[in-house]
Amino acid sequence: MDLTFTAEENQFRQQVRDWLHSNRPSESRPSVADLSACREYDLAWQKTLAESGWAGIAWPTEYGGRGLPLVQQLIWYEEYAKADMPPGGSESVCFVGLAHAGPTLIYSGSEEQKSFHLPKIINGDAVWCQGFSEPSAGSDLASLRTKAVIDGDDLVVNGQKVWTSYADVADYQELLVRTDFEAPKHKGITWVICDMKSPGITIRPIKNMAGNTEFCEVFYDDVRIPLKNIIGGLNNGWKTAMSTLSFERGTAFIADQVELEVDLKALEQLAHRTKFPNEKTAISNDVIAARLCEMKAEVNALKAMTYMSVSKNMTQDLPGPEGSVIRLFYSKLSQRVTQLCMDVLQSEGLVLSRVPGAANHLIEKYLFRYSATIGAGTEQIQRSIIAERILGLPKSR
Ligand SMILES: Cc1cc2nc3c(=O)[nH]c(=O)nc-3n(C[C@H](O)[C@H](O)[C@H](O)COP(=O)(O)OP(=O)(O)OC[C@H]3O[C@@H](n4cnc5c(N)ncnc54)[C@H](O)[C@@H]3O)c2cc1C
Repeated sequence: MDLTFTAEENQFRQQVRDWLHSNRPSESRPSVADLSACREYDLAWQKTLAESGWAGIAWPTEYGGRGLPLVQQLIWYEEYAKADMPPGGSESVCFVGLAHAGPTLIYSGSEEQKSFHLPKIINGDAVWCQGFSEPSAGSDLASLRTKAVIDGDDLVVNGQKVWTSYADVADYQELLVRTDFEAPKHKGITWVICDMKSPGITIRPIKNMAGNTEFCEVFYDDVRIPLKNIIGGLNNGWKTAMSTLSFERGTAFIADQVELEVDLKALEQLAHRTKFPNEKTAISNDVIAARLCEMKAEVNALKAMTYMSVSKNMTQDLPGPEGSVIRLFYSKLSQRVTQLCMDVLQSEGLVLSRVPGAANHLIEKYLFRYSATIGAGTEQIQRSIIAERILGLPKSR
């Protein structure tokens, strides 16, 4: 495993830097309070990236990508995070399409499905969302009960999904439905592409503790979905869903992982600027300084783990279970970084508008990062995957 960059990769890095330097958008992204405006902004930005050859860096050329190795995608994310650009990771409405629906289609979709959907995702023409979780099926995803029966050339879907991020601004959904109620629970599931404008879909946004409504409940009342939208075969959806989750836990969060290094730098600067009540700066407090040093070391460890996983994923079609090690480490560390931000700011941290610039963004992240150990599988589920699939320990009951 080689973790050094070649001359060609360094040259690519310079090209990325140059492009980012001259193409920073003049307008910043609208507040997430206005999701329709965010959708417009993110899609327009994705279009700009696609037109300039910076979208789908590691995607196949026949569907509009550049066909470059994953390491070039990593380099892009690293430079992108440093360049203070619009959200490029899980905050963007393009995240599901780019990070796991698209890769699932590349892995399991038919030619027709790939050539219709992949260019739309890359070119910023479509937003995707994920309809996996249900009120009684989160960690135990295979217990899902949203029902689909075959009627002619369609599936007719009835049921409910929950926690569907960006459902109300999405065009398509990666939807898991139960197509066989008699079969063992992992065997009767189908992964299907749902057009979110189909008649019979009702979407209700849910307000989170940061006051935003990225999450939704989605209800399906006799929603007709053509059978040709099935990915990976009828009743074979569990296998397809596992590939989606491999991408979600393995490669989807690379952008967020590399961004953490930038967040920590912003936090360090904040600690140099912020006065504690004794009139000294936060950084001169031994406990704060020690926590910062420890986190710097951990961010470097995360970087090394990310490089190793990119290196490994360049030799396989599907990320392995080791993605859960990084996902768990990243999610816990990201929570501690933003917690330290709050400890540096003390009471100022309670008033979003009084803290200027990048630090304000860190406070928003503090609220949102509580969810990092829940989304894409809770920390307990990641620990079970590590225990069972990597360490070979006995299965939990
Ligand atoms: C930011 C964010 C975005 C999300 N976006 C989407 C989305 O777009 N689409 C979508 O479908 N879902 C989405 N989710 C939902 C997410 O996948 C679920 O919340 C998650 O899988 C947990 O399911 P649950 O909420 O039903 O909790 P539960 O499964 O009910 O878990 C409750 C608690 O019990 C623990 N637990 C449960 N089973 C076990 C076990 N076997 N061993 C040990 N502990 C266990 C859990 O770890 C947790 O602490 C999102 C969640 C978040 C936070």
